[in-house]
Amino acid sequence: VTAAVGLVLVGAELLEGRATDANGTFLARRVTEAGARVARWVVVGDEEEAIACAVGAAAEAAPLVLLSGGLGPTEDDRTRAGLARAAGLPLEEDAVAWAWIQAVLARRGRPCLPVQRAQALVPRGGRALENRAGIAPGVEVRVGGALVLAFPGVPAELRDMFDQHGVPALLALPGRVPTALRRIATAGLPETELAARLGDLALADEPTFGWYPHHGEVEVTVRTRGADAEARAEAAAAEARRRIGDGVLDVKPGERIEHAVVAALVRRGWRVATAESVTGGLVARLLTEVPGVSPVFSGGWVTYAEAAKQRDLGVPAALLAAHGAASEPVARAMAEGARERAGVEAGLATTGIAGPGPVRTPTGTELPAGTAFVAVALKDRPTEVRQVFHPLERTLVQRRVAVDALDLLRRALA
Ligand code: ATP
Ligand code: MG
Repeated sequence: VTAAVGLVLVGAELLEGRATDANGTFLARRVTEAGARVARWVVVGDEEEAIACAVGAAAEAAPLVLLSGGLGPTEDDRTRAGLARAAGLPLEEDAVAWAWIQAVLARRGRPCLPVQRAQALVPRGGRALENRAGIAPGVEVRVGGALVLAFPGVPAELRDMFDQHGVPALLALPGRVPTALRRIATAGLPETELAARLGDLALADEPTFGWYPHHGEVEVTVRTRGADAEARAEAAAAEARRRIGDGVLDVKPGERIEHAVVAALVRRGWRVATAESVTGGLVARLLTEVPGVSPVFSGGWVTYAEAAKQRDLGVPAALLAAHGAASEPVARAMAEGARERAGVEAGLATTGIAGPGPVRTPTGTELPAGTAFVAVALKDRPTEVRQVFHPLERTLVQRRVAVDALDLLRRALA
């Protein structure tokens, strides 16, 4: 059996759907990456009784329990009391914890109020855990046969305390199975096409492949377990990259299509200008999220009205009248106009129908919402235009079309 871990997330805001549980996701990922298994993951409110119950049950299911939230100084922070109840032990002041709290408050120039003393309490026999990122110390206590580590709910504090105190406890768990994970960022290919390209590689029991679509990009994961997990994951990922071919984004883990585009522009020493209609500036927004974009992005236009497309990009009025704004020729003219007017090597354009309703073109046909055209004009070749269709909600259409445009540019630069 694989080493088991229980997660207990404390907070009425989580239970009532007012906040998203970032800590559970973080802890589950780190536990899994360490070769252990999350046996249960419970969310409870702020009541002492509920916390004690959840901790008691988790301690029966797993030798290590990680808890987040409810360690603050106010009356609604009941985790210390809940832990004491689960352990059947009284709360006592921990002198070291009280010294830490006073020192942190003094450093921040904040008064040390009497209520803060509650944060120095730990169940008898347990100990306080240093919090380098905040005020509330954590708690370590045994409940039945399990070790329970309680961390504050503030995500940055939780992450730091997990690294400091959670990781050693996790690595000490017997029965862990080494696992390795490789992430391959892709764009421009649907999951089905990716699976087809991977072929028999993805059908084997080991390694296991995962597909995680995100607005037109798909992250492919390769996971291996057992001896030599790292080496086998590396080999399988290399083969997977080879098979996926032009869909692979040459980026670091966590980076996306916009990073790949900026890197491709930097390699060529080329600049791009954007001309956006349906995406309303999202392409420019995505590009400018990438550090180091300045030398390769000259700027862009958001030309929503037909008049703006004429005035800012030089799209001929006759073209708009004949084909409508959401059309192949207009996308082409926008990309070329942006490139010429900005005096750069590449122009990138989007035009289309975000919805919700369809649009009737001058030729009388009805274009459904989600229809769009993306175009790339490069200085050394004919302009390329692609028609795309995403029958989705308005903001999702915009996102998908922005990714389509970036992928068209990425492929043109390859
Ligand atoms: P504090 O000393 O700040 O009160 P605490 O340990 O009492 O810390 P909480 O009061 O439970 O923690 O939460 C503090 C902040 O962290 C709140 O803004 C809360 O919404 C957020 N938070 C708590 N739990 C989570 C979680 N699981 N995921 C993301 N955010 C969380
Ligand atoms: Mg609190």
